[in-house]
Amino acid sequence: VAVLVDPVKRLANFARLLQEGYTGFVRAMEILEVEPDIADRPGASPMPVPRGAIRFDDVTFRYESSGPQVLRKLSLDIAPGEFVALVGPSGVGKSTLCALIPRFYDVDAGAIRIDGRDIRDVHLASLRRHVAVVQQDVYLFAGSVAENLRYGRPDASDAEIEAAARAANAHEFIMALPNGYDTDVGQRGVKLSGGQKQRLTIARAFLKDPAILIFDEATSALDNESERAVQQALLTLAKGRTTIVIAHRLSTVRHADRILVLTRDGVAEEGTHEELVARDGVYAGLHSVQASI
Ligand code: ADP
Ligand code: MG
Repeated sequence: VAVLVDPVKRLANFARLLQEGYTGFVRAMEILEVEPDIADRPGASPMPVPRGAIRFDDVTFRYESSGPQVLRKLSLDIAPGEFVALVGPSGVGKSTLCALIPRFYDVDAGAIRIDGRDIRDVHLASLRRHVAVVQQDVYLFAGSVAENLRYGRPDASDAEIEAAARAANAHEFIMALPNGYDTDVGQRGVKLSGGQKQRLTIARAFLKDPAILIFDEATSALDNESERAVQQALLTLAKGRTTIVIAHRLSTVRHADRILVLTRDGVAEEGTHEELVARDGVYAGLHSVQASI
């Protein structure tokens, strides 16, 4: 009951934030201030490996008590193993919705359930063990590529690390680095592209082997080769897991079992790409305005 945060994770984040300088420092302070509020309830118990059903029941959330409600009585239901694309205008709360699942924040009203259980009733560490978040803003800390990957599972063997990197389409570019898996990613002259960093975090997620995967797709353009490699890696990783992708690319959205269109008023539309285009509503509008959403 006493362990509230993963100290390795916090240290790693903190080191990275310090490297980023002042802005990073402010964010580190935010994390340090925010996280202690999230604690295990008395009576919380470990979460067994979930099937991966996710349900939001009338979820209301705001960041600050005096601030605006970001999510208002939001309800949604995601089936185990489903691949859901979340689309919608910037600022409607897509990232917020995803941050609530591993309890980076707690809801103000309503509940989030995994396999029917309120996520506040399970040990935080066991919840986070089964949920992997691959963010756009990639967490790499000073240290070797292998060390950065092992963060996905501290006891992983070298062979497992390589297998994960191969599955994430990262093995080839890692081998092309000056010292392969031993290359220090903080070293001068080692410059990884956004797509390469994202593939490293996908490799981490392979090692973690979560039941639930949350993927915040890069908004900025990746080069074509990287984009294909990231996409393939994501689709491989998503197999057999419940996956929520905050999708900015039509190529990702087309792969989804279901698209949820989020607006300020909640889920405005849902369906497959073809269904939503035929409906000629919000999604069709987004889709026709932009070359890719
Ligand atoms: P999206 O991912 O759909 O672009 P976000 O979930 O990032 O939207 O943001 C939803 C709203 O919450 C925005 O108005 C944003 O400014 C606000 N917001 C996001 N993160 C924070 C935070 N850490 N503190 C306060 N407000 C935030
Ligand atoms: Mg976002």
